[in-house]
Amino acid sequence: MRCTNHPSIETDFWCKACKQPICEQCDLAQDPKIHQCAKCVASSAVEDFDRESESLAENLAAIEEKSEQQQARATRIKWSIVLAAVIIVPWRLSSYFEIDPSVISALPIYEKDLVDECIYTLLEVSDLLQAGLRPPLDMRCAGSNLSLLVQESASNTIVSVQDPQNFGFSTMSVSQNDPIPRLVD
Ligand SMILES: [Zn+2]
Ligand SMILES: [Zn+2]
Repeated sequence: MRCTNHPSIETDFWCKACKQPICEQCDLAQDPKIHQCAKCVASSAVEDFDRESESLAENLAAIEEKSEQQQARATRIKWSIVLAAVIIVPWRLSSYFEIDPSVISALPIYEKDLVDECIYTLLEVSDLLQAGLRPPLDMRCAGSNLSLLVQESASNTIVSVQDPQNFGFSTMSVSQNDPIPRLVD
């Protein structure tokens, strides 16, 4: 048989893809064990290129999806922090307002300010107790003549105002087990 492109040249092999007889000059296959014409080498190169760019596009899509997931996760974390702040702040305020407001509002105005301040002091103590710390030895409420009394037991630590009568109460205290200050009439 003769080469499709060179009718004057005798050949005894053909292109493995299109089965056209081709001569050595027309055989462009990289692998010496096979024969392939220029057209078929070109079209298989195009197919390879398409396949490679397809998998490249898939990889890119996967990377984009992953970074979107990470972004979504970052947003979720950010929101949970914001939500925690939104929930904790009112909880903190409500723990303050749970202290019998009628008792506080019934007091003369100057005492009421001192009671407010002392409650804030007890809330500070509460934060220390929750953190596993103890109040400084000389810590006291403004308007109190004595330092706060710290009573520790195996199961609890109670910090109380030693002269609660100054504020119109029989007990003003806060404990490690109960972070909300306790005011008893
Ligand atoms: Zn061919
Ligand atoms: Zn040829």
